[in-house]
Amino acid sequence: MENKLNQKIAILGGGQLGKMLIQAGSRLGLSLSVMDTDRDFPAAFVCSEYVCGDIRNYDDVLAFGMNADVITIEIENVNIEALEELQRRGKKVFPQPEVLKVIKDKGKQKMFYEGNGFPTSEFALYKNADEVIKSIEKQQLEFPFVQKLRTDGYDGRGVEIIKSKDQLSQLFDKPSIVEELVEVDKEIAVIVARNSLGEVSTFPPVEMVFHPTANLVEYLSSPANISKELSLIADDIARRLAESLGIIGLLAVEMFVDKNNKILINEVAPRPHNSGHHTIEACVTSQYEMHLRAILDLPLGQTIQIRPAVMINLLGEPDYTGSPIYHNIEICLAKSGVYPHIYGKKETKPYRKMGHVTITGDNLEDAIETARFVQKNLKVIA
Ligand code: ADP
Repeated sequence: MENKLNQKIAILGGGQLGKMLIQAGSRLGLSLSVMDTDRDFPAAFVCSEYVCGDIRNYDDVLAFGMNADVITIEIENVNIEALEELQRRGKKVFPQPEVLKVIKDKGKQKMFYEGNGFPTSEFALYKNADEVIKSIEKQQLEFPFVQKLRTDGYDGRGVEIIKSKDQLSQLFDKPSIVEELVEVDKEIAVIVARNSLGEVSTFPPVEMVFHPTANLVEYLSSPANISKELSLIADDIARRLAESLGIIGLLAVEMFVDKNNKILINEVAPRPHNSGHHTIEACVTSQYEMHLRAILDLPLGQTIQIRPAVMINLLGEPDYTGSPIYHNIEICLAKSGVYPHIYGKKETKPYRKMGHVTITGDNLEDAIETARFVQKNLKVIA
């Protein structure tokens, strides 16, 4: 009888998401190999085998994948042609290359939403800055609007909010989408898992809570502070989207709730996601285990949240570069419900993601209070 746990898994990308995927897989006794360019990347210290190679290079990806039964990713920026070839050669590639092609390109993503009746903001596609400017001159496009690079943007890089003529010099001169500036009330996310049997399971919606003055996410909270009705709508959108895409694995669906309480899809990621870190401590099954269960065709497991949770990112302090010191970690660990995840990056740099901390509490208010304490005290310096 086939033992699904004996399948060899290859992960493209050696970052923190890869590391946490391996930690979850290790509990199940799985063999997980990683490929990336630097032996000092977070996943390198926990995987069964580390291969040095470029995840964007056809030959590297093909050779790496041929040694495994199932190939998956922890970042979208991979060589899709090699993944297609691996699939032709009988390997299981999840998320599937055809799904990755749609998601990697924000233009194709938006067209998919529009073509399949999913709610999203109005948009248009442009080849370069000149085309955008011409469109403004012809009064087909009005300020304010949001311009996004179609490919290779992440963590807000590759997104510009253009409010007036004076800001036109900030336009990207590359293929982009331009979308209406949504009047955002809340930003939420739902992580959904789907296996090849078509079973689908969702985690409760999470909220990205923005700092009242600085334009930055202050923390993520789960459950999101939204009505039951909105929560059900968000859940339904995520499920239907996973089914429409036919994805096998995890899909993180980022959504806006606008001022009229309407939910719009912002973008998706076909892998474990920042908005699901807390599931390790707060849910019955973590998003990482869920991804592995989905791609190995195992039963999906429960997503029930056991305790309210808050997640904060641990970024390098602005004035420090060098070997990291986690200042005040002990007074934070002395508080109940504080779970730091230190990614193990060898060098801290200003604003580099060095780790995250999940804080659980008897209720969300307690967790937020402790999170603020951790945020104030735990500093990554050098
Ligand atoms: P990335 O892929 O780099 O994370 P996003 O598309 O998620 O980029 O955009 C980053 C942030 O910019 C969002 O979290 C949101 O705060 C803001 N944003 C993006 N698109 C819009 C929009 N159409 N209207 C209003 N705010 C937006």
